[in-house]
Amino acid sequence: MKFRPPGLLVLPLGFAIALAGCGDSGTESAPVMDMMMDTAAESTAAAPEPVESREAIAAVLHQHTAVMASDEFEGRAPATRGGQLTIDYLVEQFSAAGAGPGNGDSYLQQVDVVEITATIDPMLRFSGAFDASPAYKSEMVIGSRHHESPVSVADSEVVFVGYGIVAPERGWNDYADVDAAGKTVVMLVNDPGYATQNPELFNGNAMTWYGRWMYKFDEAARQGAAGVLIVHETGPAGYGWDVVENSWTGPQITLAAENGNSHLAPVEGWITLETAQALFAAAGMDYAEMKAAAAEPGFSAVALDGVRASMNVETSVRGSSSQNVIAAIPGSARPDETIIYTAHWDHLGMVADMEGDNIWNGAVDNATGTAALIALAQLHATQPAPPQRSVVFLAVTAEESGLLGSQRYAENPVYPIETTVANINMDGLNTWGRVRDIVVIGHGSSELEDYLAEVAAAQDRVIVPEPTPERGFYYRSDHFNFARAGVPALYAEGGTDSRDNGNDWGVEQSEDYVANRYHAPGDEYDPNWDLTGAAEDVLLYFEIGNRLANESTWPQWYEGNEFKQSRDASAAARR
Ligand SMILES: [Zn+2]
Repeated sequence: MKFRPPGLLVLPLGFAIALAGCGDSGTESAPVMDMMMDTAAESTAAAPEPVESREAIAAVLHQHTAVMASDEFEGRAPATRGGQLTIDYLVEQFSAAGAGPGNGDSYLQQVDVVEITATIDPMLRFSGAFDASPAYKSEMVIGSRHHESPVSVADSEVVFVGYGIVAPERGWNDYADVDAAGKTVVMLVNDPGYATQNPELFNGNAMTWYGRWMYKFDEAARQGAAGVLIVHETGPAGYGWDVVENSWTGPQITLAAENGNSHLAPVEGWITLETAQALFAAAGMDYAEMKAAAAEPGFSAVALDGVRASMNVETSVRGSSSQNVIAAIPGSARPDETIIYTAHWDHLGMVADMEGDNIWNGAVDNATGTAALIALAQLHATQPAPPQRSVVFLAVTAEESGLLGSQRYAENPVYPIETTVANINMDGLNTWGRVRDIVVIGHGSSELEDYLAEVAAAQDRVIVPEPTPERGFYYRSDHFNFARAGVPALYAEGGTDSRDNGNDWGVEQSEDYVANRYHAPGDEYDPNWDLTGAAEDVLLYFEIGNRLANESTWPQWYEGNEFKQSRDASAAARR
């Protein structure tokens, strides 16, 4: 099938206006549309020069970001009018850009979710050596992702399992000496590397997947635990108890599951450090000592003798649904091998009865990334020859509810996950112009970073590691669900070292966004943004994707990476 970009032809005015308003390279800039017409007219037309098309791509980003971040789109919450407008817009624009439906003859993938809300305060009661009922919200938060209600755990034994980690590639197993089935397991947040700052241990200061609460709950469920309690500490968690309290006490949204999530532990939650200290003391143990022991290789789980835990959770469950939007350019030679670009289209929506600005427009987060998906579709669709491998543009829903759209895709992939070559994710683009640096989140993960370094050098840019790897940002956007499924995944963002104004100014811009607009109604579109830096990022991702789409190589996770095992298990599928 040959893809053409018919829709673009009805938008020349938009291009012309936007182009007139920006651009420091004057007459040298070639609009994407002109490039396309050249390409369509004759195959001898020169391939687009990345730098020359920078302003044109910036104009495309402006155009789509302005629409999706407008008040008309109501903050793009899943399962709302604004969400539907966004889905319709994306289908229309992917088609116009020249990318066909990516899920058979449909552009959509259904994402069913359930909203689970506690109907009474959940109860946690310790008995025996520790006789206490920690208060809901101020001393503990627990809940259940099971769809059925009520869920209770009665008089379970309590075991301290250290960090709750099973990492065969590191010869580490906190469950080696314990049968956790039916018990309540208590564990520390983050990983032994952070605790010891020993770079030889779990990447030192940088958080690994094993440090995330999501991993800990999953692993405890695999071990058959009935209850899972993570001890909160602000340093290793990266946030205060208030964040735990706020994010765990409202409605909890998860993917709908045929088994009603019965594979997960019945009760999951957190306890405060003070609660943990009292619990350990009652069992005759010193919390600080046990914590230090848990960071030593060969740590063995310890029963909190004489302590029992009982829990009760009652919930109401409500279903709703949304859609991922998938567009694709089929590979001409190896269509089952795919390069997948992702960006989440959803944001936080609006509050109907609120005074003042009640719309969370999510312009940077993530209308910009979604606009970049359209720009990438346009760039790939207008190459002189179709790609040998398929190139997929996946705009996922419900990222803000816990990366659910990408989880749905990774667990029910349209294209085989074993032969998905790479994922490149975009979440919040730079709005302050061209920079010399590109920041790799989760730096040191996979060979995709070698590709990035090479194309960045061609733009006279350098890649730099993220400044706060201990905060685990690599595990907080949609590429992570691909990583978890074994697919090498790259997540980078434009840096702060402004070509025009220097690094201090760039840092100010970044900090100003985080402090004043991030996840707030003020994250609004500004026509004065300089998106040429974002356009350069788009060109980097295009170059990497285009190269991979025409190679037969399979980029690997670096040695020691926590996702390498799962990828290696399917090596036979990649010849
Ligand atoms: Zn985001």
